[in-house]
Amino acid sequence: MAGSELIGREEMKEVMDVLETGVFARYEFDNERKGIYKVKEFEEAFAKYLGCNHSLGVTSGSAALKVAMTALDIGPGDEVIVPAFDFIATYEAVLEVGAIPIMTDIDDSLNLDPVALEERITPYTKAVIPVHMCGAPANIEEIINVAKRHKLLVLEDNAQACGGSYKGRKLGTFGDMGILSFDYYKTMTTGEGGMVITNDKGLYDRSDWYHDHGHDHNPNVGRGLEGRTILGFNFRMNEFQGAVGLAQLRKLDYIIGEQRKNKAAIKEALADVPGAGFRKLFDPDGDTATFLGFNLPDEPTTRKFQSVLKEEGVDTIYYKDNAWHYAPRWEHLIAWSTANSKQYPFTSPDYKGKVEYTTDHIPHAEEILGRTLFMIIPVKMADERLEAIRGGIQRAAKAL
Ligand SMILES: *Cc1c(COP(=O)(O)O)cnc(C)c1O
Repeated sequence: MAGSELIGREEMKEVMDVLETGVFARYEFDNERKGIYKVKEFEEAFAKYLGCNHSLGVTSGSAALKVAMTALDIGPGDEVIVPAFDFIATYEAVLEVGAIPIMTDIDDSLNLDPVALEERITPYTKAVIPVHMCGAPANIEEIINVAKRHKLLVLEDNAQACGGSYKGRKLGTFGDMGILSFDYYKTMTTGEGGMVITNDKGLYDRSDWYHDHGHDHNPNVGRGLEGRTILGFNFRMNEFQGAVGLAQLRKLDYIIGEQRKNKAAIKEALADVPGAGFRKLFDPDGDTATFLGFNLPDEPTTRKFQSVLKEEGVDTIYYKDNAWHYAPRWEHLIAWSTANSKQYPFTSPDYKGKVEYTTDHIPHAEEILGRTLFMIIPVKMADERLEAIRGGIQRAAKAL
């Protein structure tokens, strides 16, 4: 559960600063706020941490996806390529801007497969969203190469690998834009919250305008007199989120460091299980170690191993059956059951393509997720707990 395990005095102090001024909004009230701009400070610190030019705090990771796709001008008639193994939010965000998500196969890293990506491109494909699932990088360089060849936009969904990197460069900074999530389950948390990141000033400006009703945030005039060029909406982050984010960001490297130690210890125990292998990591040094993914030779063995581990008090996740992280399990998506009674955007006259959510397109996901288990790696793990996990693994291995 990462950052949420470490909420303490540092977060309290940051939040108290906001309560003391009484200014909860990120914009305006320059006299009352006594120089305190938590969201702005958080954005700047975060951009510096990632090594990118611009970052924009928003209300959630889902909102960040919508804001970024709006800035990239992805909309009705467009197809967006997304991995089959993904949290549902990415698909929902594509539909939110009126575009169609195209379910695509994964490779042994369990992230979007660049080869499958190329195969799924049609005349309607506008963008690809690689998702760095469960803490580890997708084959991002190769994905960027394919996107360049076909002139596709790249939006990295890095909700699940905050602080992770590929060959020393932070995830989220490879594409035209990137997003992060700080919901309560993520590597660092602001309760709810998200970030849009980019190196492109034009894309940042469009995101900035759109997320706050079109305000151009001209520092030289009052908020009421600010200019506007486009209509927007409200996805503003508030000062409490910014405050907690600042404290959590300072802990991020510690969180990842502890998770790595704990993961290595559990991995050692699993290495002795006959037939066990591990999720492919394109850059082990860039893994945030929020999860440990491992596989067994086939589906029955995997299910058996999971149930014995459970009896031993060791929980694992079998994502192939998961209701929220594997697209073929989303009966409402397959039925085009959007929140709109006309089933927009699937029924949009702008859309000339043909979308299919059948597993024929994702043979590798079906095969590899069918024999993969995940363990959630805690930041804090007592020695007794580690011993219990090790013992459970050894007994489950004997039962195979
Ligand atoms: C959590 C998550 C999101 C959405 O973030 P929220 O802040 O919960 O809206 C998007 N994509 C992925 C891959 C996620 O895991």
